[in-house]
Amino acid sequence: GGSGSTQSDLQRARMRLSLQEHLWDFYQNNVNIPAEEQAVARRAALDICAELRVFLHAKLPDMPLREMYLSGSLYDDLQVVTADHAQLMVPLILEKNLWSSIPGEDTIMNVPGFWLIRRENLEYFPRNSSYWDRCMVGGYLSPKSVLEVFDKLVAGSINWPAIGSVLDYIIHPVVPSETLTLEVQYDMDRKLYVDFLPLLVMEDGTSLIAKPHRLAAERHENLWRQSFRVAETARLRALDQEDGGCRCACLKLAKAVCKLNPALNRLNASQLTNSILLLCEKEGDWTREALADRFLQLLRALVGHLEAGRLSCALSPKVNLFCELTEQEVDELGYTLYCALSDPEGLLRT
Ligand code: GDP
Repeated sequence: GGSGSTQSDLQRARMRLSLQEHLWDFYQNNVNIPAEEQAVARRAALDICAELRVFLHAKLPDMPLREMYLSGSLYDDLQVVTADHAQLMVPLILEKNLWSSIPGEDTIMNVPGFWLIRRENLEYFPRNSSYWDRCMVGGYLSPKSVLEVFDKLVAGSINWPAIGSVLDYIIHPVVPSETLTLEVQYDMDRKLYVDFLPLLVMEDGTSLIAKPHRLAAERHENLWRQSFRVAETARLRALDQEDGGCRCACLKLAKAVCKLNPALNRLNASQLTNSILLLCEKEGDWTREALADRFLQLLRALVGHLEAGRLSCALSPKVNLFCELTEQEVDELGYTLYCALSDPEGLLRT
């Protein structure tokens, strides 16, 4: 009857209220990183970056690079739980007339969001006209081979113990590592992982990073990954700034939940950011008071995307951000999140 439904409405409202309190508590105590901890981690990353610049300029003056820089969630106040990782972006310079880019959907692999970089004009500009020809595989610039060049340098010819002792850190390359990663111990109990991320910036501003396709069959090996990170984080931040919203807080909560819950580790920042951006197209109320509602809605949206096996990139709908998950992973993620819908607080017990 009428009174029954009112009562259950009330109960639901009360549950949402308490979820809201729990979410904000969790945010304060587990998700957000103290400013001081972030500053020390940034300092350590910056010191290493400075050393590497000096080293590369001295050792390889003709390697065509733009200045390396640090980036990632640590620099956007979007890192969660512990300040423990950053990316060192290494922009390569390619000669315009010698290299061209082919979108993944125009190749036999048919993967939007990935690109091939083809060597052109070999007949007039033979091999070794371009510095990066040494990383050419089958006529294409191979991200894997580019990573190997840096791997040899970083793991092979840099005296990390010496640099570390100058900086008062313990530094060593992580082996084996599929990305090229430095482990930096900058305090007794604090470690920072710095990933080398070579990248290409094309004329129209498109960024491609040397991060291999995860289900790398051999034919995927030459693919460069388009990065939407800068644009998608900027859009999220801008929306929050317009209305003082909690979208970034919601993202950080979701990231922390996925980081702390092994069954959800496979979901990454980009997938979560884009799910929120898609939600923003339908949902306008992102006030602090709406956090629990939006968080639950985000979980439901993710379950929906997983059921469909597809999550479109908000900035480029043809890109499927789930294309590197196996069917089994999609099923497991969907199941975990589906169960969480009836006990969202369970996600916060870590
Ligand atoms: P978090 O690592 O989960 O905190 O998320 P981030 O937002 O810092 O994203 C880092 C991940 O995105 C890494 O796996 C990178 O390889 C990848 N990535 C893709 N494009 C970019 C980019 O332009 N900059 C950085 N820093 N990382 C990128």
